[in-house]
Amino acid sequence: QAFSGSYQPTFDPAPTIWQRRRAASNDPDLQGLADRLNRETEGKDASEILKAALDPALGLRVGAISSFGAESAALLHIVAETDRDVPVVFLETGQHFLQTLSYRIQLTKALGLTDVRLVTPDANEKASLDARDDLWRTDADACCDLRKVRPLARATVGFNAVITGRKRYQAATRAELKPFEVLDGVLRINPLADWDADDVEAWLEAHDLPRHPLVEQGYRSIGCWPCTRAVEDDEEARAGRWSGMDKVECGIHLGKRQVAA
Ligand code: SF4
Repeated sequence: QAFSGSYQPTFDPAPTIWQRRRAASNDPDLQGLADRLNRETEGKDASEILKAALDPALGLRVGAISSFGAESAALLHIVAETDRDVPVVFLETGQHFLQTLSYRIQLTKALGLTDVRLVTPDANEKASLDARDDLWRTDADACCDLRKVRPLARATVGFNAVITGRKRYQAATRAELKPFEVLDGVLRINPLADWDADDVEAWLEAHDLPRHPLVEQGYRSIGCWPCTRAVEDDEEARAGRWSGMDKVECGIHLGKRQVAA
């Protein structure tokens, strides 16, 4: 189960920003495009998948999402090698480890990324819903909605395609992940869908990429500090996310309808 059953959105569960995007959209048939690209890139590597998506002939307005976490350097390296000017959205929840914030700066510089956008929660929503920064204790789904889902919706309103670093191996909720899918009227590009932890490690090693400083302390999947712990060697990487809560995803990859369900 992705979301705790008790979660009821405390405000409009379908932001008008999504509705505006749909109403104003003259996008191509994104589902048809996703199906075509999944066929055409079958057997191709991550760089080729990304290059296919960034083909100017497709006319997509593409951004990337990154948590600047344990595995992020691999995707961002491939993005930078393909087009370092692709906008990269970082959800600045206000609850990150300080190590994540310094790693973002280090990695951005190392890769030469030119357009990393820090996206924060809406100040008014935060003031009314989480003035004391402790909503995560009582309603983690609402906290993620406030600090991640809604800011991402606002930040990506100009995009019709978003690159993510999600991988099938990471969680049962991602077991069916394809390189291309459509969610909330946006094409999701997942070049690393069939990578596993060894593939990530091999890529980081081969390209001598900087590591998130918490990885050596046992953090193999890194989100906000209140909702992340180090994991043992025999645990799955994401076992340290929302540990002890009935929650496995923040919601940005599930779609608004599922968030509101
Ligand atoms: Fe809030 Fe935790 Fe979600 Fe971060 S991961 S937005 S602190 S509930």
